[in-house]
Amino acid sequence: MKKCIVIGGGFAGLTSAAYLVNSGCKVELIEASPKLGGRAYSFLHKESGEIIDNGQHLLMGCYIETLKLLKLINALDKIEIQKRLEVKFLKPGFEQHELKTSSAFYPINFAAAVLRYSAISFSERLSILKFFLKLPFLSKHDLEKKSVEELLIRENQSENVRKALWEIVSVGALNTSLKKASAKVFTDVLKEIFLKGNDGSRLVLPKVGLSQMFCEPAKQFIEDHGGKIYLSEKVEKIKVEKGNAVELSTNERKIIEFDYVIFAVPFYSAKKFLPSIGAADFIPQYSSILNVHVWLAQNKFDENFYGLIDSKLHWVFCHGKRINCVISDADYLLLLSDEEIMNMIYTELENYLNIKREEITRYLILKEKRATFIPSREILNNRPDTQTEVKNLFLAGDWVNTGLPSTIESAVKSGRMAADAVASRLEARS
Ligand SMILES: Cc1cc2nc3c(=O)[nH]c(=O)nc-3n(C[C@H](O)[C@H](O)[C@H](O)COP(=O)(O)OP(=O)(O)OC[C@H]3O[C@@H](n4cnc5c(N)ncnc54)[C@H](O)[C@@H]3O)c2cc1C
Repeated sequence: MKKCIVIGGGFAGLTSAAYLVNSGCKVELIEASPKLGGRAYSFLHKESGEIIDNGQHLLMGCYIETLKLLKLINALDKIEIQKRLEVKFLKPGFEQHELKTSSAFYPINFAAAVLRYSAISFSERLSILKFFLKLPFLSKHDLEKKSVEELLIRENQSENVRKALWEIVSVGALNTSLKKASAKVFTDVLKEIFLKGNDGSRLVLPKVGLSQMFCEPAKQFIEDHGGKIYLSEKVEKIKVEKGNAVELSTNERKIIEFDYVIFAVPFYSAKKFLPSIGAADFIPQYSSILNVHVWLAQNKFDENFYGLIDSKLHWVFCHGKRINCVISDADYLLLLSDEEIMNMIYTELENYLNIKREEITRYLILKEKRATFIPSREILNNRPDTQTEVKNLFLAGDWVNTGLPSTIESAVKSGRMAADAVASRLEARS
């Protein structure tokens, strides 16, 4: 039986390992940290006794690969999928504006939802529909050269529309400003979400912590199929001879018995082992996400989440008495003190959700500095492929050339692509 070493226990590595054990390959997964999940995990917050995610993750119906994987590892019951798109957006004073599709046929229901979106004027709603109609026909070459902001201005999306819709969608999905994000990635995402029927735009929320939703079922599946997982073991060196990886050194041992290796680590980590990966101008910049949890004396909200229009907070998720405020593209907050950050949070919560400072009993600030890479025009066409110049070594990770932004779906897709590459080698040999 052929053996594959998977390095990295984030979503990409766990996906590769799950598909490989499922196809009968012997797998060892090596993860440097003491936990699985990489940038998406949960932990016990001792003060409240609650399981909290390192960052609220929002999935979508268009996450085809992720949903397929959750089915494989028997974890579909750990997520909640909306029947149809339904989002409440807030303006100051808890003024609510809904984007909600009805049960009528697609795309009529989608057009009707946009026409009912009361945060903007009727003519602005029509401008959104016109933009959607043009979307499939926009030139790829032209989109590759433009930022999201340049595209939206050219397509007559007023400042009001940009703030009341596009900024929330784009900053949420791409974790960077409209100025920096590539129009090509943005329009590709829009097509996946909105132009492929009702399912793509449904929002998907974990019902439990991310580790319970994904890491634990994935671990169980891998081990039930004979795979082994090693935590707190860091791969430090790789020896390549005649174009093949022949030895891996970790902080604990040397490994020579393997046929294939999948590197499912972040780009900056992979680059240390394989200096030649990626075109010379593939230099991803990263962007941070801040999650601020506040505990309220009382549970005040019926909705699971709200999108905030023209606010420093982009999304607010309600977990009973705990409110999780998500701020994407948050580098500008990293240097502020907790007190300064909380003063901003208090102001926004009071403005938008009528939450008074005295109602807040506790808070927790979680900063993820390198949360995602920025899908800018500069790196768009230079993302490394799964196959490397080392014949038995493949890459996975949200940064690999999946065509998707830095998301769980990209990580899972890359993990499946790497597993497929190994599987096709195995088939070719048999
Ligand atoms: C706060 C936050 C919010 C987010 N929100 C969303 C969201 O709403 N929706 C969404 O789709 N995505 C979201 N993302 C992005 C998503 O979490 C990532 O795209 C995804 O988790 C990346 O997975 P990965 O496996 O590619 O990489 P990682 O998760 O970075 O995993 C790489 C793993 O490799 C390990 N490793 C590194 N070097 C070595 C070594 N030498 N030896 C062994 N192991 C090593 C690391 O410890 C790590 O566990 C968010 C991310 C953050 C941080």
